Amino acid sequence: MSDHDTSLRTPIVAVLGHVDHGKTSLLDKIRGSAVSEGEAGAITQHIGATAVPLETIADMAGDLVTVEDFDLPGLLFIDTPGHHSFSTLRSRGGALADLAILVVDVNDGFQPQTEEALDILQRTGTPFVVAANKADTTPGWNPNENAPIKPSYDAQSDTARQRLDENLYEIIGQLSDDGFSADLYWRVQNFQKNIGVVPCSALTGEGVPDILAVLMGLSQRFMKAEMEIDVAGPGEGTVLEVKDQQGFGATLDVVVYDGTINEGDQIVVGGVNDPIVTEIRALLQPQPNAEIRVENRFERVDAVAAAAGVKIAAPDLDEAMAGAPVRVVRDRDVDDVIAEVEAELAEIEVDTEEEGVVVKADTLGSLEAMANALQEAEVPILRAEVGDVAPRDIAVAGTAREPEHTVILGFNVEVLPDAERELEQSEVTLFADDVIYQLVEDYEEHVAEMQRAQQETILDKIVRPARFQILDDHTFRQSDPAVVGVEIMSGTINNNTNVAKFDNNEPDRVGELSGIQAQGDDVEEARAGERVSVAIDGPTVGRQIEEGDELWIELPEKHAKILEQELNDEIPADELEALSGYLNKRRKRDPFWGK
Ligand code: GDP
Repeated sequence: MSDHDTSLRTPIVAVLGHVDHGKTSLLDKIRGSAVSEGEAGAITQHIGATAVPLETIADMAGDLVTVEDFDLPGLLFIDTPGHHSFSTLRSRGGALADLAILVVDVNDGFQPQTEEALDILQRTGTPFVVAANKADTTPGWNPNENAPIKPSYDAQSDTARQRLDENLYEIIGQLSDDGFSADLYWRVQNFQKNIGVVPCSALTGEGVPDILAVLMGLSQRFMKAEMEIDVAGPGEGTVLEVKDQQGFGATLDVVVYDGTINEGDQIVVGGVNDPIVTEIRALLQPQPNAEIRVENRFERVDAVAAAAGVKIAAPDLDEAMAGAPVRVVRDRDVDDVIAEVEAELAEIEVDTEEEGVVVKADTLGSLEAMANALQEAEVPILRAEVGDVAPRDIAVAGTAREPEHTVILGFNVEVLPDAERELEQSEVTLFADDVIYQLVEDYEEHVAEMQRAQQETILDKIVRPARFQILDDHTFRQSDPAVVGVEIMSGTINNNTNVAKFDNNEPDRVGELSGIQAQGDDVEEARAGERVSVAIDGPTVGRQIEEGDELWIELPEKHAKILEQELNDEIPADELEALSGYLNKRRKRDPFWGK
């Protein structure tokens, strides 16, 4: 490292937040206002990323950023917003993005994906700024195009400012609930300890200068050491996407975070099965001045240095995985580099078990994020792979022993056409979504539904506990069958169940309940509190049973056990009382009865 300055690379920035809170708009605004600054080279469009040089940031940020105060060359914004792409973007086991913007709609506040994004930022220890977006929608707001936010905020009417403040403090409060001490960014003294919240608008551009200034400040103050790289060293990067490109076959969109990649370099890339060793045929960048997001307009470049986004064309890339590492071999033993790539992949590998669900995700990073979420929800994983849902996945999911595990959870993946047909004919249920918490929630709901259905069928077949008492002067028939008036004390009595009476804690079956009448009508059951007449086949009133006797529905031991251990939460309180009364009596003689 001869020249200290040239070895400081551009920090990589990702934009995260809930859907519709304005991530794309904010990125567009940053790019757009940079371009409208007018000068050629105001921004550079990379593959999958946009580089904004320090000079442009200083132009955009006015007084907030002075070129002389900074050593870092600018910022590289990842073009695909969302924490999904963020979690995909890894480098050496950590987050690839050095910094993040967490976008929160001021009116909408924290939403599930905001929480999810915050979780990821916390886990990866990524410094971030909160963009409290859509400030322009505050009633009475007086916009100031592309202006720094503080003077604009101060110049608003009291009512407009108060309305915005309410929303801002709501966001600050929610950050604090999640363990982040935060404040409006102009009040933050120590950005290492406190999160700065920047009111802004992706529509009017207000606050955008401030976001850039905070990001530059954060990287200058806290990331300089990490940004120091050996620019001339062998390139290292992360695969954003594997794409078929006409004339090139499978290509890799890569973000390079260290060293330099040259055309002709030998590289090692993480693959579905083994690391792929290949040689770079071409390095491609978007044509300058081509519209952003216009496909297939590339120019070849000889080399790219970190940090940059680039498309790599090379043979044998079909099995490369999004999220996998890319390493240039240069002057090293290729086996050492393969071992490095394998070690990095092993770190991401998901723990699987003998029994569990099948998980498919579009990238290694998202697969890992899915695995984390499932682990938290205590859902075991049988197999976890990157890729679309294929017939083989359905076969594997079908081998799960537990019905609740015969599922595939697919994150951001497609279902291959032949898999679709197979899915229809199988017992396997597919859950597909592009929001992790939604997937896990849908699956949990599915399991709960299955359990409810299962318990209902069990409850249908099981003998239910009840305690009832023969009323005085209510013998309507002595025997064959005995017909007496009873009051149900707890639980529910049903026809065709056995009736027992306890004598010295010894249950004695007195007969079978063969009929229930309520107010002269035949009924199937009677509940606690009701008075009905019942027919009992077997006993004679005055001999086996007497008026005033306490009677019970006899519970088979197995049923008592299921009721106590599995259906505890399903049965009403009075029935539970009948159950525990019955168990108490039985367990006086045999403490292990029904256990
Ligand atoms: P994303 O899903 O987070 O990428 O959100 P988008 O950038 O697609 O924005 C969602 C909607 O909000 C779009 O209709 C935008 O025009 C609108 N929007 C985004 N930012 C702002 C803003 O600052 N002010 C206003 N008024 N609308 C915004």
